Amino acid sequence: MLVQFEGDSIELAPEETVLQGIERHGLTLPAYCRRGVCRGCMVKAKRGAVPAAAQRGLKESHRQQGLFLACQCLPTEALEIERCGGGEPHASRIERVERLSAGVLRAFLSAPAGLAHQAGQFVHLERPADGLRRAYSIASLPGSAIELHVALQPGGAMSTWLESAVGEAVLLRGPFGECHYLAGEQDRPLCLAGSGTGLAPLLGIVRAALAAGHRGPIRLYHGSVRRSGLYLWDEVSALQQAHPNLRVTGSVLDGNELEVSTAGSAIRFQPLAAAIAADGPPRAQERVFLCGNAELVRALQKTFYLSGVPLSQIHADAFVALGARA
Ligand SMILES: Cc1cc2nc3c(=O)[nH]c(=O)nc-3n(C[C@H](O)[C@H](O)[C@H](O)COP(=O)(O)OP(=O)(O)OC[C@H]3O[C@@H](n4cnc5c(N)ncnc54)[C@H](O)[C@@H]3O)c2cc1C
Repeated sequence: MLVQFEGDSIELAPEETVLQGIERHGLTLPAYCRRGVCRGCMVKAKRGAVPAAAQRGLKESHRQQGLFLACQCLPTEALEIERCGGGEPHASRIERVERLSAGVLRAFLSAPAGLAHQAGQFVHLERPADGLRRAYSIASLPGSAIELHVALQPGGAMSTWLESAVGEAVLLRGPFGECHYLAGEQDRPLCLAGSGTGLAPLLGIVRAALAAGHRGPIRLYHGSVRRSGLYLWDEVSALQQAHPNLRVTGSVLDGNELEVSTAGSAIRFQPLAAAIAADGPPRAQERVFLCGNAELVRALQKTFYLSGVPLSQIHADAFVALGARA
């Protein structure tokens, strides 16, 4: 199948994706996960129909514009495509790094002028020296330093480097993704759930909702295997105390007694899905945000969908690792 891209005519081999064909021609897209999650290889079809599988998970307006994910595209007809922006690098610097728990870092990066992000979206962080690149979600609101929460992975190339990278110059690409607060929905109930550093985008969305004067109920669930994994627990509990429409629930597996803080936030010793179900099933009108561990995100997505929440109202960012399946 023929693909035209930046003046090149690329004849794809059978079962070759558009991304693979582009790279075989010596051209590049800022692809990171190659599994339809990170959005780095999103391009636009100027001519030709794109298979539905290549647009899965994209918002309707993007689908209508002909945007699609090159890594997921096995075309069934000739395509003419172009870059769709968002991939150009912005210079930034790591200003501060602190430990939030034994396994989680918080990094603050200078906000590049040209990076118009919304809290909850993700960026590709690149180490210029060798091009090492990983995706991280943004916990901070626009207008301040970019706050990332990074889980330290044993032997992790980026996460372990970041701990001692204060002052280092980095590149940011993006922003990407649809996990962000939607203006004009101040009365809609919101449900946010995630595990580990999945809290970063969820906290970003909560911060944006509260800053926008959200009036509807907001329920935030943070899951971890151990109690010590509920990092920033005091900070999110304090948010609940200051905002009566926000309820924060922790879900931890290694314990057995309900723990309620003076701020009213509760830690339940049961799996995340059970902790959510204990508050009643998801409601059809709720807008749902799911982030973190890919398996958990997939399972919760299914639960919410089967409970009647339309897929268009469920926004998910699965933190897939390189080499893992999305
Ligand atoms: C859309 C998106 C958003 C993301 N946002 C965040 C975020 O906000 N915070 C965050 O901490 N991470 C996030 N990630 C994951 C992040 O991009 C990296 O995968 C992670 O930081 C590991 O990179 P590394 O270079 O340290 O580890 P690598 O050198 O890539 O891997 C080292 C080892 O750790 C394992 N590993 C890597 N990542 C994970 C993982 N996520 N879970 C379990 N095992 C893993 C690998 O399989 C390997 O064995 C996100 C991923 C995506 C796709």
